[in-house]
Amino acid sequence: MNSSELAGIGMTSQRTRERLIQRLKDQGITNQRILDVFRVTPRHIFLDEALSHRAYEDTALPIGFSQTLSQPYIVAKMTEILLAEGPLKKVLEIGTGSGFQATILAQLVDSVYSVERIEPLLVKAKERFRKLSLHNITAELSDGSFGWKKHAPYNGIIATAAAQGVPDELLHQLAPDGILVIPVGVGDEQDLRVLRRVGDSSEFEEEVVERVKFVPLLGGLSR
Ligand code: SAH
Repeated sequence: MNSSELAGIGMTSQRTRERLIQRLKDQGITNQRILDVFRVTPRHIFLDEALSHRAYEDTALPIGFSQTLSQPYIVAKMTEILLAEGPLKKVLEIGTGSGFQATILAQLVDSVYSVERIEPLLVKAKERFRKLSLHNITAELSDGSFGWKKHAPYNGIIATAAAQGVPDELLHQLAPDGILVIPVGVGDEQDLRVLRRVGDSSEFEEEVVERVKFVPLLGGLSR
């Protein structure tokens, strides 16, 4: 990808991006590091060309296979919650999708691990990581309902698809004081939940943040 593709023109220009940053601030995102990362991340390259002119709208957009790239506000909000106590070493993302959330995280934490169950989405996302020279993202085709044991424990886990309940396996893969951010519920009845492991105990503090709407967390793989 050449530099003008990354910089964007017209509806993907820096001015259009600035308006999105202002909108994130208006909605209460205050973490300056996160706002700075949004400012320099080209969201348009995570979409098919036909939709790239809408990349800096604060809205979820389709990425094929009935999946969506989440609304920028919710990506920023989940990232802000995840990093509330400071920078993290290892983060696991469930649901790579377009790769946008992983790209935001990769600029803020040491290492990102991400799993996706739909192979063609994973292939495209990995291609984007390569083009953006993001070398601290490790992504794999797998069912994230079971986390990713190989690289556990994680300081943070973020699910970008809605689970029907909090999977125990994800809690088991949290490091001491680790944090899990996960949408829980079905259809329109979903809450964003935050579970923080208390020290190295098996106790978790739980908080419900706000109503959200995510695609469902599904089992099995799709090739
Ligand atoms: N974080 C993504 C959002 C994609 S939407 C982005 O920034 O674009 C949620 C994604 O979760 C979809 O791609 C969907 O295929 C994936 N997904 C759903 N259930 C999953 C599971 N059990 N394991 C891994 N990925 C899953």
